[in-house]
This record gives sequence, C-alpha cells and structure tokens, in this order.
Amino acid sequence: MPRYEYRCRPCDSTFELNRPMAESSAPAVCPEGHEDTVKLLSAVAVGGSASAPAPKGGGGGGCCGGGCCG
Ligand SMILES: [Zn+2]
Repeated sequence: MPRYEYRCRPCDSTFELNRPMAESSAPAVCPEGHEDTVKLLSAVAVGGSASAPAPKGGGGGGCCGGGCCG
C-alpha cells in the first residue's frame, strides 16, 4: 500500500498515511485530529536531487560549433 505524506496547517507539521491509491486524494486527518491538511508530493519517485540545482544547459558554446545545429 503506498504511503502518502500530508501536511497539517494547524500543527505546522507533516505526517504520513498508508492508504489505497484510490484514497490518495481523499481528505486526511492529522494525528491530532485536524482536517486542515494538504497532500504533499510523494518522495518515492524522486531522489538523489540535492538542494543545489545542477548546472544544465546555459550554452557552453559546444553545440553550434559541433555541427548538431547544422
Ligand atoms: Zn494537526
């Protein structure tokens, strides 16, 4: 059963629930009983990405000189 992470606004904290995928978007109640929660994106599919953005693109000048641009 997939695990989903939710954030409780009154608690200002996050909690996790194991629930069927069909209920992933259903309202979740935090352990304290608050219903003002939001679903966070699952961290299962993502990983390895650090907080620092990887330098990517930006034009090092290699492409148009190498023939791939015609
Ligand atoms: Zn709460």
